[in-house]
Amino acid sequence: MENNSNWICPTCGAANTSGKFCVNCGSAMPEAAAPVQAEPVQAEPVQPVQEAQPVYAQPVYSEPVYAQPAAQTTSFKTGMGLAIASLACGVMSICLSYCYGFGIPFGIAGLILSGKAVAAGHPSKMPLAGKITSIVGIVLGAVLLFIILMGVIAGVVSDR
Ligand SMILES: [Zn+2]
Repeated sequence: MENNSNWICPTCGAANTSGKFCVNCGSAMPEAAAPVQAEPVQAEPVQPVQEAQPVYAQPVYSEPVYAQPAAQTTSFKTGMGLAIASLACGVMSICLSYCYGFGIPFGIAGLILSGKAVAAGHPSKMPLAGKITSIVGIVLGAVLLFIILMGVIAGVVSDR
């Protein structure tokens, strides 16, 4: 260890070129004045962050934000065709009920279609209208068919 580095005595201020004691006053060389041995700054071994935790991109289960207005529009659209068809069938069943009960199949179709429209979530009252008209058509058709059949039977019977 070389000690001939210059150091200034803190006690008397004399400049010393060597030794551990001041040549002027004899006081010991203070530790602080010692040639600062460049402390080998032990670069702390930056440990390779080996366990860089694999950041698994958390699957963000974002709640499907159903835009409310859009959903409403959709639900109005869903079953709309069925609703219209059921109402059309119901009206047709009433119209055709006077034609030898031909309206009955339409009424049945109207009932099925109105049920499907409601099941599809159609919000309007059109399926209900289709259901009512279908029932009316079926009843009218059945009554008229019954009367016709009775007439036919009566006719057949009377023919004998
Ligand atoms: Zn001194």
